Amino acid sequence: MKTVSLIIPAYNEQETLHTLYTHLCKLMDTHNHYQWEVLFINDGSQDSTEAIIDDFIKRDNRVATVVLSRNFGKEAAMLAGFDYATGDCAIILDADLQHPISVIPLMLQYWEEGYDDVFARRNNRGDSSKLRKILSRTYYSLLQHTSDIDVLPDVGDFRLLDRKCIDTLKTLREQCRYTKGMYAWIGFKKKEIVCDQHERMAGTSKWNFFSLFNLAIEGVTSFSVTPLRISSILGFIISIVAFIYMIVIIAKTLIWGESVAGYPSLMCIILFLGGIQLLSLGIIGEYLGRVFNETKNRPTYIAREYKKQTEGK
Ligand code: UDP
Ligand code: MG
Repeated sequence: MKTVSLIIPAYNEQETLHTLYTHLCKLMDTHNHYQWEVLFINDGSQDSTEAIIDDFIKRDNRVATVVLSRNFGKEAAMLAGFDYATGDCAIILDADLQHPISVIPLMLQYWEEGYDDVFARRNNRGDSSKLRKILSRTYYSLLQHTSDIDVLPDVGDFRLLDRKCIDTLKTLREQCRYTKGMYAWIGFKKKEIVCDQHERMAGTSKWNFFSLFNLAIEGVTSFSVTPLRISSILGFIISIVAFIYMIVIIAKTLIWGESVAGYPSLMCIILFLGGIQLLSLGIIGEYLGRVFNETKNRPTYIAREYKKQTEGK
């Protein structure tokens, strides 16, 4: 019998877990030709998430949990999920019921047909505002143009991964994680399913504008060095323009003699160049910061405990 793991990162999700569990039980009971593993990654929750999951474990031997020592973020929690999942395939699912569970049977069907990575694409963006939609669309087209991998818009972490993909993802242990890019980077046979994304069932989203902005920068800088190249190209163009301007000034001085005027143009050029230099330094800094983080070679997450019903209980 094949084992299917459900990897569920959960950070302060006490309001949603019971409903999620009920839905999952329904799914697992109707598909009992698979062996199921429900793996909750408790990402340092401070509410009663841990107690609720412990209660599931007591009742149900299909449930297991990895408790991280603090909040490491969803990206790290997913890596923990890949490390601890034992299934022949794994489905990554949000705890807030935004990902429609009804799509899972179709994912499994495609997996049986031989696809390695079956991902769900959102038809709508649920509760997203118009501004967020526009920003997200612009960002993805930017990302697709600057990096050589094809990160798809409207595709999240809701997907089924074959054991091959999980084992490959486990080898990518960088600190600055952008898992969405990694799915694209590893390749394998992919299949898309279009579905509606629900509104968050309860609680609030853990992402705010700044964390999304950070993730966006992470996306560009972990998969492309184009920004570095842009600053070199910009520097090159400005040098040429400056050189031509210099010749013009020398010629003007030789022909018409020296003039003191020119303060505004001088100011403009100095400010413009200063700006470009700071921007380029900032871009270099972004990459240097990542090199710094990676060289420390720390683990991406720390697991405090792995809990599962012991045999014969
Ligand atoms: N999550 C997590 N660690 C975090 C933030 C979020 O494990 O630091 C989990 C959260 O419990 C949920 C999933 O990641 O299961 C998606 O989070 P959320 O709903 O806040 O994000 P959104 O759906 O708004 O993208
Ligand atoms: Mg959500």
